[in-house]
Amino acid sequence: MEKGPYKAKVLVTGASRGIGFAIAKMFVQNNYMVYANYNKNYEELNLLANDVKNQGHTIVPIQADVSKKSDVEAMMSEIGGVDILINNAGVSQFKQFIDMTEEDWDEMLSTNLKSVYLCTHCVINYMLSNKSGKIINISSIWGVTGGACEVHYSAAKAGIIGFTKALAKEMAPSGIQINCIAPGAIDTDMNKELTKEDKKLLMAETPMGKMGDPEDIAKAVLFLAEDKFSTGVVMNINGGLYI
Ligand code: NAP
Repeated sequence: MEKGPYKAKVLVTGASRGIGFAIAKMFVQNNYMVYANYNKNYEELNLLANDVKNQGHTIVPIQADVSKKSDVEAMMSEIGGVDILINNAGVSQFKQFIDMTEEDWDEMLSTNLKSVYLCTHCVINYMLSNKSGKIINISSIWGVTGGACEVHYSAAKAGIIGFTKALAKEMAPSGIQINCIAPGAIDTDMNKELTKEDKKLLMAETPMGKMGDPEDIAKAVLFLAEDKFSTGVVMNINGGLYI
């Protein structure tokens, strides 16, 4: 296995902003070599890459639309295998089911769920040949409880939970651990459409009375990446919301 002075090679999908960016930053600060995938935005990542370079760390921004097989294959052949895969890329849409089009459905399912299959399928042989590997998928509270006006998103995120539990059983004998995290409301661009009033309501509904920070999720991802006995876990990090 190719190894440098870093602990392991990590790929974080959707690392240009929000939770993925925080994960990439946390891993690089903890001495991992990080491939940081983005689709359209790379400015912040490039700044981070230059910053950490001065501290002797490596973060490599890498473009791919993870909903497309050809993009994912090209990205993985450039990287050549990773020890830890973090399937984080995602999009959301707030729409009543009655107004949902087939295009809406396909976009939610391909970006949020098919991408998890595509990226995992591309790294699994490398992990199998090493008899080790960690895959951490970012689901959502709506995948656990269901979110009104987010039926397609909820279905995709529930799919990630089923994917995680099933593959965890299949891969456990091969030394590969697969877990997922179901965040509650986290303060990122994904929630930027929410009005101040909406945010207040959400915080009032959350027993801990606040939204989470991307770093709260990044810390949990780091824990799962370093833990040696968890697999098939759905970690709810949501300030006590709707449990
Ligand atoms: P965000 O701030 O909107 O960032 C989304 C990230 O996903 C961006 O880096 C974006 O890349 C990337 N992305 C979107 N489509 C992509 C594609 N086709 N290929 C590659 N990358 C793509 O969202 P976030 O809040 O950080 O969400 C991260 C994950 O957490 C998502 O899976 C989301 O569903 C989940 N989550 C979020 C919350 C929340 O409240 N924020 C709650 C539960 C779960 P570009 O910028 O390059 O387009």
